[in-house]
Order: sequence, then structure tokens, then C-alpha cells
Amino acid sequence: MKIKSVELVKTIYKSNDKYPESLNGEFVFVGRSNVGKSTLLNILTGRNIAKTSKKPGKTASINFYKINNSFYFVDLPGYGYAKVSVEERARWRKIIENYFSKRAWNIKLVFVLIDGRHELQKNDEILLEWLKELELDFAIVLTKMDKLKNSERAKMIRYYNDLYGENYTIIPYSAVTREGIDKIYELIEIFGGV
Ligand code: GDP
Repeated sequence: MKIKSVELVKTIYKSNDKYPESLNGEFVFVGRSNVGKSTLLNILTGRNIAKTSKKPGKTASINFYKINNSFYFVDLPGYGYAKVSVEERARWRKIIENYFSKRAWNIKLVFVLIDGRHELQKNDEILLEWLKELELDFAIVLTKMDKLKNSERAKMIRYYNDLYGENYTIIPYSAVTREGIDKIYELIEIFGGV
């Protein structure tokens, strides 16, 4: 699939903000803060749409990008940043929960980004189990694979495959080597993004 146009059409800040029209469905990008989500969105769209930074902990908001006038990329706020306040963390949780409970019906596929250098963390596990309960399709994108030695890489891919590989696709990915990008485009196409 080829991305010809990208337009930020809506940003959601609060649970009662209105979501945009459904179009032909949406693809969701979610993960811990600093996992590499903005970098991935920029690579996929070929544009600088999402701000990348070394300083996580920005305001929690959900961005809807209209792709090819056809479907959305939905950028959820990064979670799990240690230095934000308890209240801010609760707000993030609420906005993410609200999104999935209100919008699940329009979701084609969720890309859950996980730092491939680390084993599954508690809040990733909570999210994945919840997506399962909602019967949403998801793919796990293991980010920053370029930082791993071959032996470590094989170990981590096996670890995630043992956990989720039976029913879900695991995609080793790196912004540096661009491995995994074709697979992500392919999945978008398979799940109806045109
Ligand atoms: P976000 O908070 O999830 O949006 O993360 P960013 O996209 O801002 O990335 C956080 C940091 O990780 C930045 O310094 C990126 O340059 C770096 N980064 C992102 N993806 C990769 C990757 O695949 N490999 C490496 N080595 N660094 C990455």
C-alpha cells in the first residue's frame, strides 16, 4: 500500500470530545512512552507528523490522521512514563480506555509497540489482555531491534512468540535498519487499509 495523503483531522483531549466520522475504519498505534511510536508514524507516512523526542511525558491526547482520504491512523498517548503525576497517569488511562470502549467497532487493527529489548511489562500486559477481551485484532511491533545482538534478538523474538505468536503477528522492527516496515504496510493492506 502507498500513502498518498495524510491529514490531521481531529485531536481528542477529553473523554467527552467528539470522535470524527468513521470513514473506512482505523488503525491504532499504542505503546509505552519513548517506545518509538512517533518515529514509526513518521516513517510510515513519509512525513513529520508526530513529534519525536527524547523527553517523554507530553499531554495525553489522541490524534486522528486521515490517510488517503480513506481511513485513519490513530495515535494514542504513550503510557507508562515514570515521572508523570498520579493524576496525569489516571487521565491517560481514562482517555485510552474511553477510546477503546467507544471506538472498538471501527478498529481494523491495533499495532502495539513494545521495546524489543525488554520483556513484557505490566501495563503492556494489561493492555494486550484487554484488547483480547474486546476481541480486537492486534500485531505486536518489537521496536529498536537494531540495538540487539543476534543471539539476544532471537531470544526476544522467541519470548514474544511464545506469549502471543500463536494468534497474533509479531513484527521485529527498527527505525534504523527499516526492518519490519514492509510487513506493517502489508498488514494494513490485509486488514483493509487502501
Ligand atoms: P515515542 O515517545 O514512542 O513517540 O518515541 P519516539 O519516536 O519519540 O522515540 C524515542 C527515542 O527512541 C528517540 O530518540 C528515537 O530516535 C529513538 N528510536 C525510535 N525508534 C528507534 C529504533 O527503531 N531504533 C533506535 N535505535 N532508536 C529508535
